Amino acid sequence: MALVKMQDMLHHAYNNKYAVGSFDIVNLDQLQSIMNAAEACRAPVILGLSEPHTDYFDLALLANAVEAASRRSEVPVAIHYDHGSGIEGAVRGINYGCNGVMVDASHRSLEENITITKEVVAMAHTCGIPVEAELGYVPDSGDELVFTTVDEARGFVRLTGVDFLAVSIGTVHGRFSGKPQLDYPRLRHINEALQIPLVLHGSSGLNEDQLRRLIANGIAKVNAFTSITDRAAKLLRKNARAKDEGYLKLFTDVRAEMEEEATRLMRIWGCAGRAAEVFEQCDPWQPAIYEIRFNLPGTDAEEMALITRRGQQALIQIPGVRAIKAGESINSNTAPRYCWQIQLACAEVVEPLKQHPAFINFTRRYLNDDATDRTMAVYKEQA
Ligand SMILES: [Zn+2]
Repeated sequence: MALVKMQDMLHHAYNNKYAVGSFDIVNLDQLQSIMNAAEACRAPVILGLSEPHTDYFDLALLANAVEAASRRSEVPVAIHYDHGSGIEGAVRGINYGCNGVMVDASHRSLEENITITKEVVAMAHTCGIPVEAELGYVPDSGDELVFTTVDEARGFVRLTGVDFLAVSIGTVHGRFSGKPQLDYPRLRHINEALQIPLVLHGSSGLNEDQLRRLIANGIAKVNAFTSITDRAAKLLRKNARAKDEGYLKLFTDVRAEMEEEATRLMRIWGCAGRAAEVFEQCDPWQPAIYEIRFNLPGTDAEEMALITRRGQQALIQIPGVRAIKAGESINSNTAPRYCWQIQLACAEVVEPLKQHPAFINFTRRYLNDDATDRTMAVYKEQA
């Protein structure tokens, strides 16, 4: 288990003036290449699941692969929900296994951005999960850039309680047309005013000097997507032109190509070689299990199936609840007969779970009076 708390990871980067790369994952090739790069250069890494990518593939399915990769990783990993539009997305992201979420309402009015971000922060913090928001607007190609201002940033962070801030200081998402005009003094002033890890979106196309200067001024997380996937796309086009050899052959060397670019970037960002320090100085991220065992005398299989379904429907909507596994004893002599394991993002979710109306109503209705031999216990997953 190599997951670490994202707030610890980014504060380590911020305090030591380097940046961790955050890579929105779109397929297994890219996931493997990013993990290979991070492990080869001993870099902490952030794997991203981006809400807008829902249009292209099944994010929930990919999330399983991302989590599996993080569990077997040799370097520290955090999983981040990128560009979430609001509270529903953030809850879903946590359900997918993310231990950091971004809420991006930067295209809305300042008031709306504050309201939406505040709501996400309140929910995520009860789950022990930090929040990144964006102020100003890092445009997608074609839109107009809106710079982050120091005064707005100061007020925004104070009002929302956000942990990290994505700033708009001259970059754009995707490919640059023309030369980027980076506003370093603006970034320096924002950093002096906020003193929290800052995030760079739209890093593709920046050169080494530019990246280093931005990182020296408070950027502790760099999102990188286009520079890596563009290299893969170029090679795919070349492979497609070369010969008609079938689907798998199309991907020849694509992983190595992405790995090379990710490695190059990790060295520039300064996160290469930091894995051991991060493991040593950052708290591990530990998912938790809330286990209930009980008997329900006089309940037949059909009734029990109904109760289980109702319970699963009620509990899965609670922020920080990731899954509910319901089991029945194989050996009928073993009491208690039923066992529910509620998988939680982390142990901090236990109290909000117990206080949640859906949990209270369900246990009151089905378990309080009728269940016997009831035991409850909380386990944290071993690191
Ligand atoms: Zn972005």
